[in-house]
Amino acid sequence: MIRRLCWLMLLCSQLLIGNAIADVLRIVPGQPVFNVHKAADVLEDEPGRLTLQDLLSGGASEGFRPVDPESSGLASFGFTRSAYWYRFTLDNPGTTSRRMLLVLPTPWLDTVHLYAADAQGGFHERLVGDDLPFAAREHLTPAFVLELDVAPGRHTHYLRLSTRQAFMTPIELWQPEAFQAAQQRWAAYYGMFYGILLVMVLYNGLIWLWTREANYAWYCLYLLAFSAMNASYSGFAFQFFWPESPRWSNWGHTFFIFTFQLTALLFSMTFLESRTRLPRLHRLMKGFVALLLASWLGVSVWGNAVAYNAAPVYFIFLGTPLILAAGLSAWRHGYRAARFFVMATMVSLSGAMCTALTVSGLLPYGFVTYHAAELGILVDVVLLSLALGDRIKLLRDQHHAAQQAVVDQKLRSSEMLAEANAALERTVQQRTAELARARDEAERLARTDGLTGVANRRCFEEVAAQEFARAQRYPQPLSMILFDIDLFKQINDAHGHAAGDAVIRAAASVVREAVREVDFVARVGGEEFAILLPGIHQAQAVTTAERLRELIAECVATHQDLKLNFTASLGVSERRNDDPGFGALLHRADQAMYLAKQRGRNRVAVAPEAAAA
Ligand code: GH3
Ligand code: MG
Ligand code: MG
Repeated sequence: MIRRLCWLMLLCSQLLIGNAIADVLRIVPGQPVFNVHKAADVLEDEPGRLTLQDLLSGGASEGFRPVDPESSGLASFGFTRSAYWYRFTLDNPGTTSRRMLLVLPTPWLDTVHLYAADAQGGFHERLVGDDLPFAAREHLTPAFVLELDVAPGRHTHYLRLSTRQAFMTPIELWQPEAFQAAQQRWAAYYGMFYGILLVMVLYNGLIWLWTREANYAWYCLYLLAFSAMNASYSGFAFQFFWPESPRWSNWGHTFFIFTFQLTALLFSMTFLESRTRLPRLHRLMKGFVALLLASWLGVSVWGNAVAYNAAPVYFIFLGTPLILAAGLSAWRHGYRAARFFVMATMVSLSGAMCTALTVSGLLPYGFVTYHAAELGILVDVVLLSLALGDRIKLLRDQHHAAQQAVVDQKLRSSEMLAEANAALERTVQQRTAELARARDEAERLARTDGLTGVANRRCFEEVAAQEFARAQRYPQPLSMILFDIDLFKQINDAHGHAAGDAVIRAAASVVREAVREVDFVARVGGEEFAILLPGIHQAQAVTTAERLRELIAECVATHQDLKLNFTASLGVSERRNDDPGFGALLHRADQAMYLAKQRGRNRVAVAPEAAAA
């Protein structure tokens, strides 16, 4: 697919550049650029000792071959020690010489000797290359640009090229104005490209500062390493950072390509969490890193120039599939963030691989194939930003779920607590009510006579004191009847204690039925009862007592088969204004009752006036 795309791009670029004539390159006015490398013959100078003189006079020139038209017309010799001679003939159909620019865009060429033919048949020799300080160039651009005055008529020129890096270069002849315009376009392209990389480095660097997530640090280093590698092989690093140091410029390529691969591997391992997710591949990647470092050291210390430059490029061919395999494997094992990683890595590393193949001469040169690494990294930064974001989202989701679980747990326990509290509250209320009921019952029992259900003596004394005070405060009459069952001992003796109880109960029930609601009945002794009659004068009370006496006399108490008749003697008294307390009233009633007993029982008596005095 990529190959087909490359061919397509190549076709387009050929159409743009224009048709080159096979042997002689005719300088047509108005055409901005000519493809010199297609019209050139090439000679390999393996030991690199040939001189121009050897080529002009000796048989050495018979070694010149036209460039293989099947290949893109671009000579690419991979990594080689040999020098290469190019011979090309320019035909200027005009009458004056034309100022043109001979451009070799490959920035890592070590030496570029131009032997430019002049109108007199002589040669004018010039030398550029990255073996010389940057300032030694005629034009201060990463590409090698040589002024060439093309004399009228046909003239043959020679170029001698050598490089320790990948031997691959287009050779173009430009109209100066057209070249200036193209340069501006390239400046805009690289400005944008490095701008994007810089922004991404800063962005991810800041995120790393805030989050301290190792992924961001590794990604930053990866981007920095890519930028350094790109600046190195595109010639900008030499131009801007170490223009005085051709030696480092030449050796730096290998350093930066190795660094790029190292960071790519380490970033991949961190991002994919390969140690835990892909233990087998992790070991393989660690092994690969070790191999990479060992080779780096090996070629740096012992390798010749060609091996030193070729090694990192060939490592790209091994490292790329390894990282891709790790990404795919993590994705297949359900690691969500891996899908963006795989896409990003697929694009960027395929780009790097494509560029590596191009400079190694294994892919035809073209804009896309040569700049594939740059285009790839642009897609990469977008996709990997997505991947890092996706990973953050993944972590946040996990964090959120864990938090939710804690919240749920808390909620559940607080609900349980509330429930327990409510249950406790209910129990307390229940117990309190029970206690209140028990207390009320106890109080009632304490004030009630167990045998008859009427008030007992204690209760009677309380109520009587209250009634007496009330009657005194709002002067109102208050009378009292005290009665005692006659000859009760005999009933007990004759029929037993239980029969006696039945008589007591019967007497109480008769009296309670007969008096008003406001009258207060109490059992104050064994078979002795008292009745308080508020608002009643003595005369009325005597009438009531008489009625009660009759009712008692008529009453029949039953006990088992027994039917028992009984009578009672009743004493009546009324409150007097000079009574100091209730006791006086009671005392008079008692006296009256005693009187009734004395007078023969079963009768009503009132307290004698004298006794009260
Ligand atoms: P009197 O007409 O003079 O009142 O003669 P009486 O036999 O009723 O004499 P008294 O009032 O002295 O006798 C009270 C007796 O009542 C004494 C006691 O044994 C009996 N008694 C006291 N309380 C109870 C009781 O709760 N139940 C029963 N069955 N007998 C009681
Ligand atoms: Mg008695
Ligand atoms: Mg009695």
